[in-house]
Order: sequence, then C-alpha cells, then structure tokens
Amino acid sequence: MDDVVGVVGAGTMGNGIAQVAARAGYNVIMNDVRDEFLDRGLSAIDKSLQRDVDKERLDAASKQAIIGRIRRTTDFGVLKEASFVVEAVVEDLGVKTQVFKMLDEVTPSHAILASNTSSISITKLAAATKRPDKVIGMHFMNPVPVMKLVEVIRGMATSDETYERVRTLSEQLGKTALDCQDSPGFVSNRVLMPMINEAVFALYEGVASRESIDGIMKLGMNHPMGPLTLADFIGLDVCLAIMNVLYEGLGDPKYRPCPLLKRYVDAGWLGRKSGRGFYEY
Ligand code: NAD
Repeated sequence: MDDVVGVVGAGTMGNGIAQVAARAGYNVIMNDVRDEFLDRGLSAIDKSLQRDVDKERLDAASKQAIIGRIRRTTDFGVLKEASFVVEAVVEDLGVKTQVFKMLDEVTPSHAILASNTSSISITKLAAATKRPDKVIGMHFMNPVPVMKLVEVIRGMATSDETYERVRTLSEQLGKTALDCQDSPGFVSNRVLMPMINEAVFALYEGVASRESIDGIMKLGMNHPMGPLTLADFIGLDVCLAIMNVLYEGLGDPKYRPCPLLKRYVDAGWLGRKSGRGFYEY
C-alpha cells in the first residue's frame, strides 16, 4: 500500500494501532518522545503477534514482515511522509492541541489527522490546525488488535471525504466503523463510564462487596467482566478524567465522579498499571 500511516504515541493504544495498520499491509511510522517508550511499544507488539504465531493464526515470517513495516522514531519530522496520522498521546487537551499544531506543520496538506481521544472535543483539536476539514476522531477500543469497533467522531468542520476515508481505513484494518457526533464522551464512554461510576458508588455506599458487584454484573448482564475489574483495566485516572469531561461538558450533576474514585486516584491506585486499584495485581 502506498499510504504511510503515522501513529503518535507508542503506549497501550498507539502500539496496538501501529500493529493493526502494519498487519493490514501499511508502512507505519510510530513516534514517541523517548526511545524507551518506542522499545516498550514494539515489545508489546512482538508479544501480541507471538501469541498469534503460537496459536498458528500467523506464521513466523509474516510476523517479521509486520514488524519490519513499523519504523520507530523520536523525530517528529519523519511524519512528513504520512498521509494518515492517528494521534494516541495522553488524554490531555494541552498536550493533544500541541501535537495537532505540530502535525499540521509537518504533514502534507492532504494528510488526515485523526485522534484516538476517549472524550476530548474533536472540534477543539481541529481548531488548532489550518485543516479542520481533515481532522476526525478515530476511537479504537482496548486491546486494539482484538476489539472490532472504531467509533468515528466528526468535528464541526470534518468533511464527508475525510469521513469516508476513515471508514475505508477502518475496514481495511478489519474494524467496524460506527459514527457519532462530537459530544462529551461520544457514545461509548457516555454510556460505559456512568455505569462504572455507579458501581464505584455502590462500593462506596457499602451496597455490596467488590466481588459481588462485579459478579452480579458479569453473570446477570452477561458482561465479559465486572465494572470494577474493567475500571482497573482501563485505568482509574482515565476513568476519572472521562467522568470529569462528562460532568463539565454536559453540566449535569448525574455525572459527578464518585468521591471514592477520586480518592483511589489521589492514592496512586490506578488499577492494573500501578499494581493496585479496586483489586491487587
Ligand atoms: P499511554 O499512557 O499508554 O500512552 C501514551 C503515550 O503517548 C506514551 O508512550 C507517551 O510517552 C506518549 N506521548 C506523550 N506525549 C507525546 C508527544 N508529545 N509526542 C509523542 N508521544 C507522546 O496512554 P493510552 O492508554 O495509550 O491512551 C492514549 C489515548 O488513547 C488517550 O487519548 C486515551 O484517552 C485513548 N484511549 C485509551 C484507551 C485505554 O483503554 N487505555 C481506550 C481508548 C482510547
């Protein structure tokens, strides 16, 4: 494929996006601020692909070819070769705005700039560029190689052409694209996060133990995992950041983050990634 896909941020989501793009045959440029973050990203990709080799869903030569299509760089300037960029840096408006400004300067004028943000306004990110028609939300789910959905979010100025190109790319990556308007939390997190927050309130108020809350939702609603386990998987800081976006963006007290969630984040108990959240890891 001629198009080069750039991925900014090689963390949990960025390395997953780089992996699925390379697996679909794209040449990928994976950018991060430090070599060690790129190494960590590549090692996650290697591990994930090796699982497929072990299960005989992929042969070893194809695995090497996929990895060979991923170029790692801390040099942002290399993204000038990309005709499509997915930004997957930390969920922070200031940092993302800066990245979009830089992408606008570096990439060719026809390049599409997509954000994997969980909740930040695409319209705001687009306004940091001189090509708001080519800015769009491309919200992958975690873990990217496994989850089928890409939530596609159109900003105020996103053009139909950009939207169609993103739909096509999503399909090429083996995903199903479903669209929604640019509203706080989009659809996925507007529905998911209040459920998680309510589960935290139930724990906070002593309605049930963590095991009962998770077990009831898992067995009763046929969810693959309970809401507290899921919160630990996503990261409690990420959950809190999204609840704050919903609370401030929609101005409705029903989105008030549970005080217990805040307390856990204050304590540095962020879930799996810090070794402790609602459970111990
Ligand atoms: P992460 O912390 O694992 O990775 C973020 C990466 O971005 C880090 O490696 C960091 O070094 C890098 N980075 C920071 N500033 C940068 C810059 N200026 N240039 C290049 N790289 C930079 O975070 P994540 O969980 O992968 O989340 C990334 C984005 O995806 C966030 O917007 C998040 O809301 C969204 N998201 C996360 C999940 C999830 O379950 N974790 C799911 C869907 C969407």
